[in-house]
Amino acid sequence: SVADTGAPTIFDKIIAKEIPSDIVYEDEHVLAFRDINPQAPVHVLLIPKLRDGLTMLSKAEPKHVEVLGQLLLASKIVAEKEGILEGYRVVINNGAEACQSVYHLHLHVLGGRQMKWPPG
Ligand code: 5GP
Repeated sequence: SVADTGAPTIFDKIIAKEIPSDIVYEDEHVLAFRDINPQAPVHVLLIPKLRDGLTMLSKAEPKHVEVLGQLLLASKIVAEKEGILEGYRVVINNGAEACQSVYHLHLHVLGGRQMKWPPG
């Protein structure tokens, strides 16, 4: 399992465009790009450009309320761009037990197929 060390992650390099990614949507605050290991026909990761201590959702503080809202709003824009507005899933894995592997807060936007519940 991977722990939250607070060290920079691969997502910083993606934000800086030091490593390539397939960007789906970008604005001042958030970046959305395709997951390198997609779990559905549409699998986009949505991250804050400024991590600001948000390594994981359980580190959220009142100062993060605005960017958390921007991420949720942007997830709708991603779904719209990807043509999955009629049904999609937004996931945040928090911590090793939930399979979080990158410690820069990210929303998974998944769709393009029938999703299962519970996710397991
Ligand atoms: P987590 O497991 O932390 O919720 O999600 C991390 C996600 O980041 C995984 O789905 C993984 O496939 C994706 N990922 C890891 N490294 C890279 C990368 O370098 N590029 C892209 N596009 N996705 C990555």
